[in-house]
Amino acid sequence: MKILISGAGIAGLTLSALLLKRGHDVRVFEKSSELTEVDAGIQISANAGHVLKALGLADAVLERSFVPSEWHMRTYLSGEVVNRIELGDHHQRLRGCPYCTLHRADLRSLLVGCVRSLDLNVIVLGAEVAGYKESSDGAVLHFSDGSDVRGDVIIGADGVRSVLRQTIVGADKPIYSGNAAWRGTIDARRLPMEFSKGITTSFMGPGRHMVMYWLGQRTLLNFVAPVETDIPNEESWTTRHDWQTPKDDFAGWHEDVQKAIDLADRDACYR
Ligand SMILES: Cc1cc2nc3c(=O)[nH]c(=O)nc-3n(C[C@H](O)[C@H](O)[C@H](O)COP(=O)(O)OP(=O)(O)OC[C@H]3O[C@@H](n4cnc5c(N)ncnc54)[C@H](O)[C@@H]3O)c2cc1C
Repeated sequence: MKILISGAGIAGLTLSALLLKRGHDVRVFEKSSELTEVDAGIQISANAGHVLKALGLADAVLERSFVPSEWHMRTYLSGEVVNRIELGDHHQRLRGCPYCTLHRADLRSLLVGCVRSLDLNVIVLGAEVAGYKESSDGAVLHFSDGSDVRGDVIIGADGVRSVLRQTIVGADKPIYSGNAAWRGTIDARRLPMEFSKGITTSFMGPGRHMVMYWLGQRTLLNFVAPVETDIPNEESWTTRHDWQTPKDDFAGWHEDVQKAIDLADRDACYR
């Protein structure tokens, strides 16, 4: 079957590799002219881990990951640990896969390598999908440069502002949930050795929390800090914000939270 996928993000790449392994003829069209990734982490628990295992990527993912031994839930002022979730060997025994945390760029490059090792020409860059049309003998994908490609199946993996979704259900606007997440990464060399050693941590307080986890061989600390706010902003991985706002949002919180915000790159503050 000839399968056309719109979008070479984590979803489009994973799906391409799985379908190629099943023997399908696949093309994945990506509007960007190069495959880059935002400077942020991702946590891979067992569901995603089993998919990566099926692609033969389990060892490579593990090599580029940090495997936390536990996840600590702490209060925002005193830092008291109120709950611990066992990860590490326990998660591996229970779920047959490790719980690991790695940089998004590492995950994406492993997926790109996997897809290209199955078929070098699968990923088509600089190809912006504009819509599609179905017919009794298949479907046609339309591109913004006016070109078309015919296939048997079309799959939209073009993200939260999917053009294909719009073509199917009509123009639609995401509804703001009232929550926005601050994000940042910190070079581990800037943090004390004992900082959050070997674990993932959540600091929890009224209307907001901060999750911190290590990436790679404990080389970077990644934080994600969701806050309730009436000020929505465009959904984006790349829009920079003023560092002072997250600093104010978490004023008075535990010293580890202050340290993470203080040591984050002030010119690379994302929400
Ligand atoms: C702060 C934050 C933290 C998160 N943490 C985790 C986590 O720890 N673990 C986890 O499992 N998930 C996490 N998620 C969710 C996860 O990151 C996303 O669900 C996932 O990245 C979505 O991947 P995707 O491939 O569907 O979409 P995207 O990554 O958005 O990829 C879509 C691709 O399609 C391309 N595209 C868009 N439009 C077109 C078009 N018209 N034509 C061609 N190409 C197009 C884009 O350029 C892009 O490459 C997190 C999300 C956020 C916001």
